[in-house]
Amino acid sequence: MNDHQIEQEIQAKGLTAPRITPADIEAAIASEHYFTAADGWRAQRGEPPAAGIVLPLPAGLEPLGLLTFCVLVLRNGFTVTGESACASPENFDAEVGRKIARQNAVAKIWPLMGYELRTKLAAQEKEAAYIAAAVKVESRIARINQGDRSAAFTDDDLVYAAQSRCTCGAGLAYPKDSSPSGSWHCSDILTYRAATADRAEAKPHDRPFPFSVYSIKSENQPSAHGATTRPQPAS
Ligand SMILES: [Zn+2]
Repeated sequence: MNDHQIEQEIQAKGLTAPRITPADIEAAIASEHYFTAADGWRAQRGEPPAAGIVLPLPAGLEPLGLLTFCVLVLRNGFTVTGESACASPENFDAEVGRKIARQNAVAKIWPLMGYELRTKLAAQEKEAAYIAAAVKVESRIARINQGDRSAAFTDDDLVYAAQSRCTCGAGLAYPKDSSPSGSWHCSDILTYRAATADRAEAKPHDRPFPFSVYSIKSENQPSAHGATTRPQPAS
């Protein structure tokens, strides 16, 4: 089964998620070059075959003429090589030798492009997971603000500020999965320690402080030297 037959089977089975196709492989090839080991031997001795006079190979070196190389230069500047050796001199055919050498070179492109695609997909998956987590955090904060106690975070879910506090006295904090577009919030609101009535009237709380506007030191920064506004368990 060759690459094109495999491609047909993949399409027939509807396996169309991102993948490398034979067309992608061909598109990645900028140029292709062929020569035999005999060509190399002659060139090394300053006897280019292009001169029109191709000297016969010395006795014992005839097999050099049966070994064909294919060099594929890829669009990104990388190169791959393929070889084709021939056991019986009477079977040697230059055209067939080149085809086989090319096939062997192409076979080396598949894992390279597969690796490249996998890296790209992994980055996209990470980005998608990151965005999904950030959206989840934002919707949870929205629920808390609407009075849904079941959406409350625990202190373990939060990163606390080293020193900055809400007007109410509670430390500022943000949920661990927050995105760079997130904000610092009053921890008593995120954890629901502040009762609904509290938030509305009795105790005023600061509005959220977006990361993009406010630079607030967190308890995790080395320069905080261990300072935190995290509520400490009563000793
Ligand atoms: Zn507060």
